[in-house]
Order: sequence, then C-alpha cells, then structure tokens
Amino acid sequence: MDQGLKYHLSDLLSESIIKVSPVLGGDISKAYRMDTPNSSYFLKLNPTGDALKMFQTEAFGLQCIDNSNTIKTPKVVACGKVKGSAFLVMEFIESKPASSKDFETLGRQLAQLHQSSSKDFGLNHDNFIGSLPQSNTLHTNWSAFFAQERLGPQLELAKQKHLLSNHECPTEQNITSVVEPLFKNIRPTLVHGDLWQGNYLISKCGTPYLIDPAVYFGHHEVDIAMTKLFGGFSNNFYTAYSSMIPNDENTTIRLEIYQLYYLLVHLNLFGKLYYSNVMSILKKYF
Ligand code: ADP
Repeated sequence: MDQGLKYHLSDLLSESIIKVSPVLGGDISKAYRMDTPNSSYFLKLNPTGDALKMFQTEAFGLQCIDNSNTIKTPKVVACGKVKGSAFLVMEFIESKPASSKDFETLGRQLAQLHQSSSKDFGLNHDNFIGSLPQSNTLHTNWSAFFAQERLGPQLELAKQKHLLSNHECPTEQNITSVVEPLFKNIRPTLVHGDLWQGNYLISKCGTPYLIDPAVYFGHHEVDIAMTKLFGGFSNNFYTAYSSMIPNDENTTIRLEIYQLYYLLVHLNLFGKLYYSNVMSILKKYF
C-alpha cells in the first residue's frame, strides 16, 4: 500500500499501522487487513469515479442494519478519499465457516431484520448493487417500485449494452400486469438487498455479521431469493427463517421473479454468461 495513504490512515485512526495484508474475495475493491497494536481493521480501497459514493452508501447501509438491533454489522470507522482513492475502514471480523447452529442464528436474525418496517418502499437516497447504481425512489406500491426501480433500469442497461434486444425485454406495463396479482399485501421491510454467501461473516464466537449491503425497504423475500440463487445457505437457515416468516402459496413464483433482478445485475456486470438464465425467467413469466 502507498506510504502516504498508510500515514493518512494511521493519523485518522490515531494508531500506528504495524501490518497490512491483502484480503481476497471482493469483486469490486481492493481489500486489506490492517493491524495496529490494539486492533485490527478491514480496509477497502477503490480509485474509480463512483467509489466514494459507493463507500458512503455502504457505510450508511451497514449503519441502517445495525440500528435495527437485529443482526450485527462491522462498525464503520472512517470513509473518505485520499491520494485519488476512496477508502472505507471498518472493524475487522475474525471469521470461521458457518456451523448448523450459526446458520440457524443467521436465519432467525435475518427474520428479525425483516420485521423493521417503514411506510414506503425504497429509501431516502439511491445506492449501489455491486458497482451498478440502484435507484430507491420511494413508492407506496411494491409492484410499481419493482417494475420502475428494479427490473426497468436493469433491462434498459442490458439493452444499452447490447446484451438484450428490445423484443426480449418486457415493457413496464407487461411487468406490472404480471407482478401485480402476485404482489398482494406486501409491506415495506428493511432488506440487506444483496444477500449472497459472500456477504455474511460468522465471527469466531458464532455471531453473524452482514456485510456489503444494498439496503432499502422492500419485500423481505428478495433476500431469500438472492440466498437461493447461488446457494451456500444450509437448511437450518431456511427452517429458522420460515419458523418466523412463513412462505405463502406464491412465494416460489415470487422468488424466481426477484432472482431475475439479480440475474440482470449479473448480466450487466459480468456479461453473456448470465444471458440464458435471464431469458429462461423472462420467457417463463413475461
Ligand atoms: P467488494 O465490495 O469488493 O465485493 P467485500 O465487501 O465483499 O468486497 O469484501 C471482500 C471480502 O473481504 C469478503 O468476501 C469478506 O471475506 C472479507 N470482509 C469483508 N468485510 C470484512 C470485515 N469487516 N472483516 C473481515 N473480513 C471482511
């Protein structure tokens, strides 16, 4: 790491940084563990244009989840820009693989997070899903929110990137008419927004932490849809979760429709590899 940056961070923490080691596993930013005589910190660095905004909204998302007093997040220590690079510093969580019991705790605490409700769907500011902008304009209607703020912008982007053609993309009207009958009696609850298996940590003593959120108030099933898309969550997680928030007769269909959002995001971020998965849901429902 650049010496100037290291001095700056040392200053900010009022502690000398005695060791910096790279942390692997991130898609977007460079990540490091920084050790000081008294603590360990997790540092993300990103020199790209949107990165400061990305880190600020990530810090806000972590704080939002923490404020719900349901599931822990690493405490954010600093966020800013120095020497052309945005940085985010937070508490370093020493983690371990999840046991069955940890998955049960994670499922229960996620269900508790999903009890934090709000009046409207969305959030008072936009954020990011991965490195892509995520619009959170407030709506009173979940179908409208999902069509206009979730599927709509990702379909548009896929068209601009020539990943999908016009005739492959449903119109907003199409989307609304399909989802409206399925999206009944949905209330806005706080969601992590990007809950794949790389976005939780289990501390050495078995406490779950959520990381890298894309929070907003939405339907709680969006988080479950994401956990099921790429797998990695055990049955104990789903059993604990559904003992607190049961499924209903349309859950299976909704999960697939919510997965379409995440697949479109992956199509736009990583390209053609995700095309056939996107198309199979589009053809099935729209
Ligand atoms: P990116 O935004 O670039 O995808 P992540 O936030 O996912 O980066 O972090 C990359 C990896 O670093 C994660 O997969 C996780 O293993 C680890 N990590 C993230 N936050 C912490 C933390 N607070 N303490 C320890 N390790 C962390």
